Amino acid sequence: MSRYADIVLPLAQGTYTYAVPEGMSLEAGEAVAVQFGLRKYYAAIVWRVHEERPPVKRLKSIERKIYDRPLLDARQRALWEWIAAYYMCSLGEVMRAALPSLMKPSADSEAQLLDAEYHPRTERYYALADSLRDEEALSAQFDRLERRAPRLYETLLEVASHEDLPRRGEVARRLLGAESTPLQTLVKKGILTMCEHAPEQTHDAPRFRLPKLTPHQEEAMAKLKADYAAGRTTALLHGITGSGKTEIYIHLVAEVLAAGGDVLLLVPEIALTAQLIERMERIFGSRVTAYHSRLTNQRRSETYLRLNSSSGGEFVVGVRSSIFLPLKHLQLIIVDEEHDASYKQSDPAPRYAARDVAVYMAHAGQIRTLLGSATPALESWHNAATGRYGYAVLTERYGDAEPPQIYLSDTRRAAQRGERRGHFNKLLLDKIGERLDCGEQVMLFQNRRGFAPYLECPQCGWAARCPHCNVTLTYHKNRSQLVCHYCGHTEQAVVKCPSCKVVDVQPMGFGTEKIEEQIAELFPEARVARLDRDKVTSESAFNRIIRDFEERKTDILVGTQMITKGFDFEGVSLVGVLNADNLLLNPDFRASERAFQLLQQVAGRAGRRSNNGEVVIQTADPSHPLLRQLLAGDYRTMATEQLAERQAYFYPPYARLTIITLRHGDVQTVRRAAVALAVALRRRFGSRVLGPIAPPVDRIRGEYLVQLMLKVELGASRMKANSLLDEELQKLIQTPDFKSISVAINVDPQ
Ligand code: ADP
Ligand code: ZN
Ligand code: ZN
Repeated sequence: MSRYADIVLPLAQGTYTYAVPEGMSLEAGEAVAVQFGLRKYYAAIVWRVHEERPPVKRLKSIERKIYDRPLLDARQRALWEWIAAYYMCSLGEVMRAALPSLMKPSADSEAQLLDAEYHPRTERYYALADSLRDEEALSAQFDRLERRAPRLYETLLEVASHEDLPRRGEVARRLLGAESTPLQTLVKKGILTMCEHAPEQTHDAPRFRLPKLTPHQEEAMAKLKADYAAGRTTALLHGITGSGKTEIYIHLVAEVLAAGGDVLLLVPEIALTAQLIERMERIFGSRVTAYHSRLTNQRRSETYLRLNSSSGGEFVVGVRSSIFLPLKHLQLIIVDEEHDASYKQSDPAPRYAARDVAVYMAHAGQIRTLLGSATPALESWHNAATGRYGYAVLTERYGDAEPPQIYLSDTRRAAQRGERRGHFNKLLLDKIGERLDCGEQVMLFQNRRGFAPYLECPQCGWAARCPHCNVTLTYHKNRSQLVCHYCGHTEQAVVKCPSCKVVDVQPMGFGTEKIEEQIAELFPEARVARLDRDKVTSESAFNRIIRDFEERKTDILVGTQMITKGFDFEGVSLVGVLNADNLLLNPDFRASERAFQLLQQVAGRAGRRSNNGEVVIQTADPSHPLLRQLLAGDYRTMATEQLAERQAYFYPPYARLTIITLRHGDVQTVRRAAVALAVALRRRFGSRVLGPIAPPVDRIRGEYLVQLMLKVELGASRMKANSLLDEELQKLIQTPDFKSISVAINVDPQ
């Protein structure tokens, strides 16, 4: 009987059927090498092995298997399928997100493919020959060598003295000081044996020294456990910054590891949580495996394969893609800072949200998921409030540290009174001065990088715009350049207005670079550093800026969102927010929630270890209700008000959103396609379809964008809605006029 295999390629495609060569044993989840098209070779994943010959004349055969065991088990395959169905993408796209790059290579020939694949790092190991395992035989050998070959004697002595090392008395070459020649001679003489294999990974014994929880923390942990025991698979730990959420994570992790289970701790962006990894390593030692995009490709593949054959007791700390790791004994997923938008992959597909996938995994299997945050996403809060999730709260900072004092500082009033220099109100400047005098540190937050958002002509209103995207270019002063933050287009900054040719253009608004420049002028003696995406192009640059600040080699750190997450700087007692208004004026329905989360998080950086933390928020609208709620530390009121608004306007968590973006180089084509799709979808979904509308940036890289939004009721089936939507999209892209339209579907957009 001939056998066939449906395989998944790392392309935006479904499965393809190949013939299984005679005699090849093959099961689902295995990686294989295949030829695809005329001259492409890929690593692919076997999805299903069967005996149904597809109705085609010539069928290609699988070339070979790549690893000695499947890369995916049944649980992972089910997860990929769920992600493909829920987020409306192909299995190939899931594969691209899920596997490290060396495990999904492509090449122009079979030989090149072999080269591009992951090859395990191996090491040389030496051991005593079996005949010398006997005490007498060994000492006889020593006697012989001592007299006749002193160098060989020394070398053998060194190897023999390592004999207590793991694995059959093998000694890794790198642990030996001996030179190669005598080692080789000993091997030739049959006194030593040599072999080469992957480095041994040994875990520390599972004895972790845990901090003692405070009574409040104990209570919160007991509540979480009780909620899990009562059948909730996901729980929310809502604790203000510094309340000890991480300490509770540590206790839960230790319990799972001690029982031989695996734990996954998801963190928003790994570089920002380097401190968290270090903290975990201090307790869990070599149990901790970090997984993020800054690791080398070799290292990521190595980690994947190591976990794939692990017998349990693994603790992975990683970014969103860690959700795909082969943790076979997974019992607990912790999502730290669960409200963070970086858990959602916005581009390319799969546009999955790792937090929501973790919640699904808990629901689907024997896993528990814990979401932790000081300012939970309203969706999570709503789920806890309605009893779908377990819930525990921590309301006090550890060690009686008081939460920081927050001041709202009115920028308009300050300007009227002449109490403003550059972008700083007198209040903020005075406080910076005080802190610097006491040798304390200051963080300044501005939500925009660059020097100024754009250059504008004060006379005719001309503004520098990107030729490929419908946005203004950001002015970067020290490079004297204009940069598009959407497509990367860069041009030399102009001085004279190119339109009216009369006056000089002016930088409008301000970014981190300008703040850095002004603060350095205002406090010439202070050491100022800046942290944003322009400044940080490598991990080492990032680490250096952080380390210098940690070691108090810098006094003031200016930055974007990057400085707000997860850091624990002891010396920081003052945080300044230069302009809260651009956060509040954002048109997105999540703008208020996000502003609250961000400002709370920024504020949490002040006075982590002392009682004198202060936060100054500059705003033109100090009576804004959201800022009032922030001042009162009143998450609950904020959440209640925002949820009421979401309900009134039918937004998440009361509705499920899908955004469909059509993209094409010709504006007429894309508009006609959007109208046709809207008409078709309205026949299916009625008034649940909104649009077509132009998104805020409606031209990117020379292509025009049009969007439709689908809003369905919470009670409706997401999968049902997806399949109706998919049918209409298939019809659309099969229309001859619209074949070249690109479609991006974003389920649960953030
Ligand atoms: P969160 O994760 O909620 O921001 P952390 O767990 O980081 O809070 O705790 C804040 C600080 O207080 C940390 O430096 C932590 O070591 C300390 N801390 C919290 N709880 C305890 C505890 N039970 N024993 C000792 N130190 C604690
Ligand atoms: Zn651009
Ligand atoms: Zn002009």
